Amino acid sequence: MAELKDVKGIGPKSLSLLNKIGINSVYDLVTHYPFRYEVLKRDELGKVEDGEKIIIDGKIESIPILMRFKAGLNKMNFRLVTASGVVGVSIFNRAFLKSKLLVGTDVIVIGKLDKKKNVITANDIKMGTLSNKEKIEPVYHCTSGLTNKNMSTYINMALLMYGRDIMDYIPSYIQEKYNFVNKKTALNIIHNPSTPEKLKEVTIRLKYEELFQFMFKINYLKIQNKKKKNGLVRVIDRDKLKEFMDKIPFKLTNDQQLAIEDILKDLESSSRMNRLLQGDVGSGKTVVAFVAMYANYLCGYQSALMAPTEILATQHYNNLIKFFKDKKIKVALLTGSTSKKEKNEIYKGLEDGSIHMVIGTHALIQDEVNYNNLGLVITDEQHRFGVHQRANLQNKGIKPDVLYMSATPIPRTYALTIFGDMDVSTIKERPKGRQKIDTYVKRTNEIKDVLQMMYEELQNNHQVYVIAPLIEESENSDLTTVNELRDQMKLAFKDKYKIDIVHGKMANGAKDIIMEQFKDNKVQILISTTVVEVGVDVPNATTMVIFDADRFGLSTLHQLRGRVGRGTSKSQCILISDSDTERLKIMEREDDGFVISEEDFKLRGHGDLFGTKQSGDMTFKIANIRSDYKILLQAKKDSKEYLLNEEYDNDDLKKELISSITNG
Ligand code: ADP
Ligand code: MG
Repeated sequence: MAELKDVKGIGPKSLSLLNKIGINSVYDLVTHYPFRYEVLKRDELGKVEDGEKIIIDGKIESIPILMRFKAGLNKMNFRLVTASGVVGVSIFNRAFLKSKLLVGTDVIVIGKLDKKKNVITANDIKMGTLSNKEKIEPVYHCTSGLTNKNMSTYINMALLMYGRDIMDYIPSYIQEKYNFVNKKTALNIIHNPSTPEKLKEVTIRLKYEELFQFMFKINYLKIQNKKKKNGLVRVIDRDKLKEFMDKIPFKLTNDQQLAIEDILKDLESSSRMNRLLQGDVGSGKTVVAFVAMYANYLCGYQSALMAPTEILATQHYNNLIKFFKDKKIKVALLTGSTSKKEKNEIYKGLEDGSIHMVIGTHALIQDEVNYNNLGLVITDEQHRFGVHQRANLQNKGIKPDVLYMSATPIPRTYALTIFGDMDVSTIKERPKGRQKIDTYVKRTNEIKDVLQMMYEELQNNHQVYVIAPLIEESENSDLTTVNELRDQMKLAFKDKYKIDIVHGKMANGAKDIIMEQFKDNKVQILISTTVVEVGVDVPNATTMVIFDADRFGLSTLHQLRGRVGRGTSKSQCILISDSDTERLKIMEREDDGFVISEEDFKLRGHGDLFGTKQSGDMTFKIANIRSDYKILLQAKKDSKEYLLNEEYDNDDLKKELISSITNG
């Protein structure tokens, strides 16, 4: 295939500008799709309102007068004769157009009409006339030094020179089935649409192609993983496991049991486990993880459990020790604040196999950590880890089985894409005895009511979380708001209840101590930043108060609310805010994380849902997994059929699709 520099008109300077915006090949160039279109349709002077946008064509009647004000600021004025009358035109900073704007020239002017002065302040002037039909012009993302016109010229030249060689990723039988035009035609039309109907038709075709390619990859990875048989084959002593499970102090929910069964089957099978365990906050994923770790231990392998925060890692560690207290299992906690000496001991224990289970933050995946026989890796709240970290952890063991746990229920579309190569177990059912958490929105001037509500719960020997407002990252700002809130609470509750604070900038050891005290009810009111957002489990806490609630995203609010309602007592969540955002209404109305995540998805699109870390996996040039969900489903089905049909195994396209996955 030709290179970008071979395209006529692209010199070294434009080449580097194209590279700058991520266009590095002819393929990149021709698939640099317009991000919108300008529809040019002739307006009439009399029919456009004052101050409104106008598109009009005509002949230049007067020699343009150029005025220069200072460097980088100039203005040109001329009169234009149009079919609906004469009008003045002025345009800023287009001095370079002067030589082209001769009297008698046909031009198209796009701008804003000032009716009183009868002048159009133009933002664009094009040569030529408008036809009676509307004209659709592509608008591209450009960069300084590279105009929309340049972009359009390069793209069309590339299509002219190499259009026929451009890879078409849709198998021909599928193209026939859907009556798709070929790739070259589709590209020609998307860059030069003649009618909105044609444009729509090829847009669907190009979206389909992109999703087909993507879903082919996902399907391929999933099938390969199943086929590879490179997982550890275990024979789990089911009797021993049952004996252990019977001692769990509560009855597992049906969904928990099903999830455990899925995982045990994966551990026994010769394919590597690549499973996502998703369940709403408080649905009880941790115990499922512990059972899996125990089963793995029974088979003689080490397990690693990775959590996104130290608070959570420490909590898991404490629970795990309790859980296995009468077993000979050796468990270690490895975090950033583990002392050097202790760390070295843990490294040694992991390497010689004397440590059976290790819990930690991403300290677990640092290079100096070597495992003796790592068999199972579990990452909790997995959406907080980047893809890279996930991969790194997987590569630690020889062929460890991998379980991801997420409390952010994944909208169906996501489940198909980001996690499309994984198996999914879902816990929907909540443990018995849980009550719905009541959620209220309160205004800042209702703070007295809020304090009263807190007071009532405290009198019932329950505990309260108070989340401080979210603030811009800056030195110590966390500290200030948290401290201010503490003073406020101290003033309200005097010395009746113990109040303490945790925040992200605190030393880890200090954080742990306070969390421990809160857990033991030695602290009744915990004022915190969102560091308690994930995973923290203190069942006696029944009230969550969130200041400036409108500043938080839906999934964060839901996670925070999930800190309460973990025991059998009625719990409440109070959102303090003076603005009426949709998010707060959703929070009042919904308590099902699956519904909330769908709502969040609708409000925000996919970009934010998992933070920026994962959006890199999800960048499509033309498709949008939310609005193109139907196309996605079809592409998923078709690509799987194509992949599994051996008749096509010798197709160049199939080979190409596979090699692009294995090479990149
Ligand atoms: P999450 O899914 O949010 O990680 P956890 O695993 O932290 O939830 O569980 C929340 C709380 O529910 C914990 O205190 C846990 O001990 C308890 N729990 C888990 N499963 C059950 C069950 N089947 N019955 C009663 N309580 C349970
Ligand atoms: Mg959890």
